[in-house]
Amino acid sequence: MSFEELSKLLKGKVSLDEPLASYTSFGLGGPAKLLAHPADEEDLENILDFARQEGMRILVLGMGTNLLVKDSGFPGMVIRLTDGLKGIHRAPEGIEVGAGTEAKDVLDYCLHQGLQGMECFAGIPGSIGGMIKTNAGAFGGEMGSLVQKIRGINLNGEWLELGGDELGFGYRSSNLPNGLLITRTWLRLKEGKREEIKRQARENLKLKAKTQPLSQRSAGCIFKNPPQAPAAKLIQEVGGKGMRVEEVMVSPIHANFIVNLGGATASQVLLLIDQLRERVREAFGLTLELEVEIVGGEE
Ligand SMILES: Cc1cc2nc3c(=O)[nH]c(=O)nc-3n(C[C@H](O)[C@H](O)[C@H](O)COP(=O)(O)OP(=O)(O)OC[C@H]3O[C@@H](n4cnc5c(N)ncnc54)[C@H](O)[C@@H]3O)c2cc1C
Repeated sequence: MSFEELSKLLKGKVSLDEPLASYTSFGLGGPAKLLAHPADEEDLENILDFARQEGMRILVLGMGTNLLVKDSGFPGMVIRLTDGLKGIHRAPEGIEVGAGTEAKDVLDYCLHQGLQGMECFAGIPGSIGGMIKTNAGAFGGEMGSLVQKIRGINLNGEWLELGGDELGFGYRSSNLPNGLLITRTWLRLKEGKREEIKRQARENLKLKAKTQPLSQRSAGCIFKNPPQAPAAKLIQEVGGKGMRVEEVMVSPIHANFIVNLGGATASQVLLLIDQLRERVREAFGLTLELEVEIVGGEE
């Protein structure tokens, strides 16, 4: 199958050499060799067939809020799930959600229906698929604890369903089988008092907005919190707040956020990450582990 044939076959879109900057919250990143937007599961099967036939690497993209895409871009097929593969329905003990659905839309649905469990994610950007893969969490809640099961397709085009207890959720991580693309999930949510759930969501959002630079371009927390202390505290103690490499800066509001001041490059972010790690290593003898995922080919 040629690129033109794939393009005709799909209900969704596919493009060549498209910059990924506008598909990431950092606003950074070079082009994808191919960028596909499946409209549904059948599109996804055809896209994976094509990528297999061409021997292309795959990158699954949700809302790109936990990614640092290198300036050289991604030399393979990027599959963006947030254009199709959406939808929210009531299901036994909770809801069924398309993996490309925005977490914010799921929260709004829950607030409207009086369902409890999603309110800790108020203010966290991302798709449900990305939130499961990264086991997103805040205010004591974690995505993994809500997952009853997922449906997904692997790189060989085989469909499978896995229970939440098979996904090995850990701190900002999961053991999702390599190359499995989640297309749908079933979340376990309790019935609750609508006003109380709304109040909790509002409170969480308010606290997040006060302590994080939500209006600037970033990928959330850069580093995971080591057991010794929050990464932000360690960075602050080594004078990291406000540190700058050209157009990227450690946020003066939250030391574990690096923000794009406009016109930044991924290389600048990587340089600032190295400098912060070096300072923390020298001062405390520990190496900060990345929470953000770096993707792309060789520079
Ligand atoms: C301002 C800001 C605040 C944030 N606050 C928090 C916070 O409080 N807590 C927190 O945990 N995170 C936080 N984050 C990080 C981010 O919101 C989460 O990691 C989110 O879950 C990422 O979702 P996404 O759809 O953007 O995933 P992406 O960034 O697109 O992808 C992340 C990973 O998931 C994979 N992936 C995405 N979709 C699928 C799928 N359907 N199937 C299989 N794999 C998939 C990707 O390949 C990649 O490996 C914040 C980010 C920002 C920008």
